[in-house]
Amino acid sequence: MPATGRSYIIAGAGITGMTMALALAKFGATIVLLERSATIQEFGAGLQISPNARRILDRLGLSDALDQVSLEPEALDVYPQGSRRPLISMELGAIMRERFGAPYAVMHRADLADVLYKACRRFANIDIVFGVRDWDVVSHARGVTVAVDEANGQSRTARAAGFIGADGVHSKTRLAALDGPPAQFRNRIAWRRLVPFDAVADEIAPDRVSVFFGSGFHLVCYPLPHRRQVNLALFMPGQMPKDGAQPKPVDPGPKAGAILAAEGDEWTPWPMYTVETPLWHQGNIGLAGDAAHAMVPFQAQGAAMGIEDAATLAPLLAGTETAEAAFSRYAEMRKPRASRVAALSAENGRIFHMPWPLSLARDTVMRLQGPRAHLNRLDWIYAHDLGDTSPS
Ligand SMILES: Cc1cc2nc3c(=O)[nH]c(=O)nc-3n(C[C@H](O)[C@H](O)[C@H](O)COP(=O)(O)OP(=O)(O)OC[C@H]3O[C@@H](n4cnc5c(N)ncnc54)[C@H](O)[C@@H]3O)c2cc1C
Repeated sequence: MPATGRSYIIAGAGITGMTMALALAKFGATIVLLERSATIQEFGAGLQISPNARRILDRLGLSDALDQVSLEPEALDVYPQGSRRPLISMELGAIMRERFGAPYAVMHRADLADVLYKACRRFANIDIVFGVRDWDVVSHARGVTVAVDEANGQSRTARAAGFIGADGVHSKTRLAALDGPPAQFRNRIAWRRLVPFDAVADEIAPDRVSVFFGSGFHLVCYPLPHRRQVNLALFMPGQMPKDGAQPKPVDPGPKAGAILAAEGDEWTPWPMYTVETPLWHQGNIGLAGDAAHAMVPFQAQGAAMGIEDAATLAPLLAGTETAEAAFSRYAEMRKPRASRVAALSAENGRIFHMPWPLSLARDTVMRLQGPRAHLNRLDWIYAHDLGDTSPS
């Protein structure tokens, strides 16, 4: 395979960057990950990992490690505004494994990052450089040249076959190397916190995802049994608040209200940005993950799309003469899917926050759809599979 002995430099050791490194390392490539932070950073709390992404992580040999830190919820219960009873329980659990060949699981982001990091460390051909102050990349006929300012103040220059910008929503690769557009603020804030499970045990089932609809907000809750905590994510419109401000959803009802009021960590606001860029690559420099296609998280697919990017790009780099040709094919394959998922996520945001009386129509439709309609409706997301592309 052409990738054997080739080297690639990846900016960003997030979920996309580390998955990309693992996928490339399997082809015998040498990978240097340049990470701006001093350690693996996983801000935020929970993450839902759907079968389309989990299948890829399983093929990278991470299945057992992920099982140990995740929960496979039995169902996703959706509560209409103010209600104590779900209007629908969408089945997950065993039916997801049976139908899509991989679980639908929830986990702490730091646990997923830790699993990926430990897996990267087992490869002698993956080097993660932390605390990188800055870098500059230039593409040329034979690959790329990257000048790196390291944490200790030293500079070094490295050559590689290609450079992958997995450096997140405000990607320097997109902005500087590809002269691409800035991320767009979506006028929404995700408020996140963890609470001890016992603090919400009367309101939240230990084996389910609970979603509470409201007018102008929705609240997503799921247990992280490995940590004896519950992840809360509250989504509301607005600008980034001042320090110390707390979210105040109007009329959440007794159940969601009790969960919101539970003792636990402080709420942390997280401004929501999206990225739409026509240019995913130029020469031997390409983008992956949020750097290419950050989306609002209302279909819980942002990280999954970065993981899929890695599974698509690695075999192309391995089987194509130049990184440029691989990036070109990869962009053709990935852009339509990432755009479709982003559009669905944005549409969900509109539907989830519908005011009364539109919310009544929404709730009736959801109730009539029944507990398994999502399996067909979202089959195009969860069943997506390029096959096992790792070297035999
Ligand atoms: C509230 C919320 C809930 C979400 N829930 C889900 C969910 O349930 N399921 C799901 O699939 N997705 C979810 N997402 C989306 C998901 O979090 C992101 O899509 C995913 O984390 C993107 O990963 P990434 O590796 O591409 O980018 P990032 O996680 O942003 O990682 C980028 C990395 O690059 C580093 N970096 C940045 N700039 C530089 C630089 N110049 N040089 C070197 N390194 C750099 C950063 O330090 C970081 O480590 C959610 C998002 C939000 C906001």
